[in-house]
Amino acid sequence: MKTYILDIPIENITLENAVKKLLAFLQGDKNNIVITPNPEIVMKAQKDKELADIIKQADLVVPDGIGLVLASYIMKPKLSQRVAGIDLMLSFFELAPAGTTVYILGAKDGVAKMAKEKIEAKYKNIAVIGFHSGYFDITQEKVIIQEIERLEPHVLLVGLGAPKQEKWMQKNKGFPVKISVGVGGAIDVMAGVVKRAPRAFVSLNLEWFYRLATDPKRIVRMGALPKFVFRVVTEKISKKRKE
Ligand code: UDP
Repeated sequence: MKTYILDIPIENITLENAVKKLLAFLQGDKNNIVITPNPEIVMKAQKDKELADIIKQADLVVPDGIGLVLASYIMKPKLSQRVAGIDLMLSFFELAPAGTTVYILGAKDGVAKMAKEKIEAKYKNIAVIGFHSGYFDITQEKVIIQEIERLEPHVLLVGLGAPKQEKWMQKNKGFPVKISVGVGGAIDVMAGVVKRAPRAFVSLNLEWFYRLATDPKRIVRMGALPKFVFRVVTEKISKKRKE
């Protein structure tokens, strides 16, 4: 079941069931696009039709942001929980079958390699068979594409920021992989370069506050949040009027 927030369909799913979906994708024979939007991305999709269409066509769209869960209280049906991209991928790594292969694309120079080392040390069932930083020119991009086509990893982690990562995954939908997932800054977290918020912040749904407090530059991006709340409330009022 999906909840539409400002016309963007979000899967009403638990973390556990989202992981089950990824495990099922591994058994399939196509590249499944997974998107992890937060309110900022939903706001970007209001002005960017290409991004909105990519999200609408994706195989799994999980609510990576408590703002979406809160918005669902008024947009209905209520989303059962936040499913952060990082939690989704780490839980998937835990349960994936032995021999699952991953390619990491994204983050600054050296970070993807650190993420590979951390992932392989912790999850013996996972092999990171290739990686590249998220800053590349057209010539390097060709090499990256050829490498992914040659390696055929099961899972492709793409952390280029939104909407770049979503557009890049869509452009390369023909890749011989089972899952392409847009993970935003999760590669930095997997590498240990960026610390995840302490558990107490996460369980109080205040991870966004921790990220803001530790990286005040995010305040600019968070300017999208009041606009998001305003749009959700006005859309609800106009729907009610039409009822
Ligand atoms: N990034 C990248 N290439 C780019 C732009 C961004 O690899 O051209 C990376 C950046 O280094 C970071 C991630 O994309 O690792 C985006 O992080 P952000 O904080 O925007 O993502 P969020 O988790 O908030 O969606």
